[in-house]
Amino acid sequence: MNADLAARVLAGERRALARAVTLVESTRADHRAEAAALLETLRGHGRQALRIGLSGTPGVGKSTFIEAFGMMLVARGLSVAVLAVDPSSTRSGGSILGDKTRMERLSREPSAFIRPSPSLSHLGGVSRRTREAVALCEAAGFDVVLIETVGVGQSETMVAEMCDIFVLLLAPAGGDELQGVKRGIMEIADLILVNKADGELKSAATRTCADYAGALRLMRKRAQDPEGFPKALTVSALQDDGLDRAWEEMQALADWRKAKGHWQDRRAEQAAHWFEEEVRGGLLARLRTDREVKRRMAETGARVADGEISADAAAREMLTWLKG
Ligand code: GDP
Repeated sequence: MNADLAARVLAGERRALARAVTLVESTRADHRAEAAALLETLRGHGRQALRIGLSGTPGVGKSTFIEAFGMMLVARGLSVAVLAVDPSSTRSGGSILGDKTRMERLSREPSAFIRPSPSLSHLGGVSRRTREAVALCEAAGFDVVLIETVGVGQSETMVAEMCDIFVLLLAPAGGDELQGVKRGIMEIADLILVNKADGELKSAATRTCADYAGALRLMRKRAQDPEGFPKALTVSALQDDGLDRAWEEMQALADWRKAKGHWQDRRAEQAAHWFEEEVRGGLLARLRTDREVKRRMAETGARVADGEISADAAAREMLTWLKG
């Protein structure tokens, strides 16, 4: 059954892909085992998509952008998958990330695959599900995988750790908005797109863009960037303006990184990072759920509370016991 599903995913069948994503989203133990087996079978197919992370606060125009950008890619003969990461809830600002009704035209395209954010509550679960869904989309032969997220908590850094190119979508703003964007986010962005550069907002967008371009120039140069990156551009998702240029910049960046070896290095580092995260997550889960560990934690915790043993000594004792 699994072999059949794997073959159908590899053949690029949308229905099979959707089923496979549902499988990796499931928390049922038998589904997890099946998902793991499926992912193992699909490993080594050698296909790589361009993974683009896209972040922006609610209302900035993410769905409008993805719809227009996705349609442009499709018109160029490329296939595009859209996945969403929303660790806060499935809703943000009244709209559901990756919701098909928000990307009506794109969702009707045979070469597009759109998957809304699942309602998983903890970040670890969302992150693994998304990485696995990305792997499935790559196996299915998608050219571009877009991973959409909101600027909430650690979701941006998490998405940046699973994509090749990280794009920050911003709205035009008045004077001191620049301070509103956390420096950490600026540091992980490869491309800043100031959206809504149309009509009355156009001049504000141009100014905002120049501000960000200036701020980016002041930042430390990163080894994985060619001259001129990270870059800030204006776009209008609504009027389909500047999206070609944005795509060309993304491709130029991807090509350069591939040629210089940074692309593979980054993927290798990301894989190592996720390995560590999974082990860490697994250990924490063990602390929370394993009965013997829980009992021991409670017992040792009580001894610490009673002043029988110091917190540090108790922690060392606990860690030694866990190792054994
Ligand atoms: P999201 O919450 O980030 O997904 O934002 P939406 O794509 O839902 O857009 C929020 C609002 O901004 C909607 O009313 C859009 O029509 C509008 N919007 C999105 N892109 C543009 C744009 O390029 N120009 C203008 N003027 N409005 C836009």
